[in-house]
Amino acid sequence: MAELGIVIPAAGQGKRMGAEGNKQFLSLRGQPILVHTVRVFQMSDCVSEIVIVGAENDLALIKDLVIRYKLDKVARICQGGVQRQDSVRLGVLALSSTIQRVVVHDGARPLLTLKDFHRFLQAAEGFTAATMGIQVKDTIKQINDFGCVTDTLPRERLRAVQTPQIFERQTLEAAHLRAASNGYYGTDDASLLEWMGYPVQVIEGSQENIKVTTPEDLWLAERILTMRET
Ligand code: C5P
Repeated sequence: MAELGIVIPAAGQGKRMGAEGNKQFLSLRGQPILVHTVRVFQMSDCVSEIVIVGAENDLALIKDLVIRYKLDKVARICQGGVQRQDSVRLGVLALSSTIQRVVVHDGARPLLTLKDFHRFLQAAEGFTAATMGIQVKDTIKQINDFGCVTDTLPRERLRAVQTPQIFERQTLEAAHLRAASNGYYGTDDASLLEWMGYPVQVIEGSQENIKVTTPEDLWLAERILTMRET
C-alpha cells in the first residue's frame, strides 16, 4: 500500500474561542486538544509519518507535547503561514519524499475516531481526492448583498465538508503550488483540486467530528468524549 503521511494544520489564532493563545492547546478532558487530534494517527497502522504545522510562538510547546505524549510518528514540526492554505502547503512540502498519499486534518478536530478514520481510508481507496462530509440538517439559502434570498439549494445535494481529506501527494502538492503562484485561495484543500479540474469524492463523515472553534464547541466536545467513555 502507498505510504501515507498526515499534515495537521494547527497554526491558527483561535480568535473565536476568546481564549488567550492558540485554542488547540486548551484542555479537553485533561489533555490538550491537539494531543487528542494527533493521537488517532499515532495509533493507526496505516500512517507512516505526521507533520504538525504550528504558529512560530507555539513551536516549542508543540515539541514538548510530542515528547511528553510519545507521539513518535511526528517526523517534523514546521512553521505555518498567514492563512490555513499557506500552513497546509508548508506542511505538505515538509513531508518525506517517500510519502505518496497525504491526509490533511485540522488540528482543531480532536474527535475523529480510529474506526471512522479507517473507514474513510478504505472508502477513499482508488480516488485521487476524497473528503469527509455530512448531510446538512438545515435548509441552506443563498442571499444577495441586501440579505434577500436568491436561491434555496436542494438539501439532499448539499454536504457540510469536514477533514480528514485525502489526496495523491503529487497532485496535492502541484495544486498548492499553482494556487500559491496564482494567488488563489480556497476554503479547504479539496477546493484547490476542484479548481484544477479534478473530481473529489465525498465520503460520509460523522456528526461527532466537530471543529472546536467556539467555547460552546469545547463544551460539546467534552460531552461527546464523556459519552464515549461511559
Ligand atoms: O480557522 P479554521 O478554524 O478554519 O482553522 C482550521 C485549522 O487550520 C485549525 O486547526 C487552525 O489551527 C489551522 N490554521 C493554520 N494556519 C492558519 C490558520 C488556520 O494551520 N494560518
